[in-house]
Amino acid sequence: MSNELNPFEIAQRQLDEAAELLGLDEGTHQLLRWPLRELQVTIPVRMDDGSVKVFHGYRVQYNDARGATKGGLRWHPDETIDTVRALAAWMTWKTSVVDIPLGGGKGGVTCNPKEMSLGEQERLARGYIRAIHRMIDDETDVPAPDVYTNPQIMAWMMDEFSIIKGYNVPGVITGKPIPLGGSEGRGDATARGGIYTTREAGKVLGIDLKGATAAIQGYGNAGQFAHKLGEEILGLKVIAISDSKGGVYRAEGIPFEEGVAWKKKNGTVLDMANTHNITNSELLELDVVVLFPSALENVITQANAGNVKARISAELANGPTTPEADKILQQNGVYVIPDFLCNAGGVTVSYFEQVQNAYDYYWPLELVHQRLDSKMTAAFHAVHNMAQDKGVHNRLAAYLVAVQRVAEACKLRGWV
Ligand code: GLU
Repeated sequence: MSNELNPFEIAQRQLDEAAELLGLDEGTHQLLRWPLRELQVTIPVRMDDGSVKVFHGYRVQYNDARGATKGGLRWHPDETIDTVRALAAWMTWKTSVVDIPLGGGKGGVTCNPKEMSLGEQERLARGYIRAIHRMIDDETDVPAPDVYTNPQIMAWMMDEFSIIKGYNVPGVITGKPIPLGGSEGRGDATARGGIYTTREAGKVLGIDLKGATAAIQGYGNAGQFAHKLGEEILGLKVIAISDSKGGVYRAEGIPFEEGVAWKKKNGTVLDMANTHNITNSELLELDVVVLFPSALENVITQANAGNVKARISAELANGPTTPEADKILQQNGVYVIPDFLCNAGGVTVSYFEQVQNAYDYYWPLELVHQRLDSKMTAAFHAVHNMAQDKGVHNRLAAYLVAVQRVAEACKLRGWV
């Protein structure tokens, strides 16, 4: 992988820029450039055909100055220690920018769950927990779902951890199914938070989002719920959606129910009735009001940023835009709602889930929505105002807000 596209080097470069503007002392800057702890594990799994397959897994605890490390688990064929490090760094800035009392961490396993049976997935989930259980618990490091993991996988993991401990520990994992101590509203929280920030962006830019066009790259949890809630809450007209196989376009708009039904039936959005197929790169360059990059990192780069025509890029994915692309988008007046602000709704409701698990008393859905909205709205305006005050793009502004808080916590603890 070229240095330009190594996610951890990108995360470090983004931090370096913020550290300079904040005038961080060298010790604090160096401390924040690296994970505090990381573990790499090897997990043997009995496959359905009787053979044993060996998987490689990771858990990175980036920084816990503001609280227990928190962050999801990705199961992806391209997962590496560097993607996990970058994502753990971004989790640190994410929990800080929404001002919840947590640090940042991330985990992953290099695997392709699409090619694994449910039984194989369960054995991998339990094997992963046996491998990392010494490093996590409800007060030190709390995993959650991310790309290609889901509430069922979280349930197996929480169960395995509880078996090891000998008592029930629901708070060790968030994003659990509701009957096992999951929170109302966690399922669509990432997209919902992103939709709230998009609503606020519409207000500060003076754009009426009702009936405005949108395109969604990525049709997993975040992308599908962005489609649903973009219609429901903002009245957006989604004219293109895509998944890892490619995308589809219809000028009159693709209703959520139709998109999700097609995806469910066919396993992809491609070839949907009354649409025409487009590539993922074409989708990113469509003339729409709102673009939702909702898949993986490094999709908007130096090579295509100049062709992005959206007024707002609401980054539901982690790391979709490279630093070179950020500069081009800024020059072209594309208003970016940066990933660790835009997609912070997931971890915010995970935090609500931890709070509910800790006092074993559960909130109604409306309360979750209200509290999520106030967190996301406050974070959006903190970042927007910082960008205005300092004359910098929103991602750098988000770094300034988040890094300052983490640096302050490190200082108060006497680490630096
Ligand atoms: N994986 C999600 C993220 O990247 C959620 C993390 C969590 O809930 O801890 O923010």
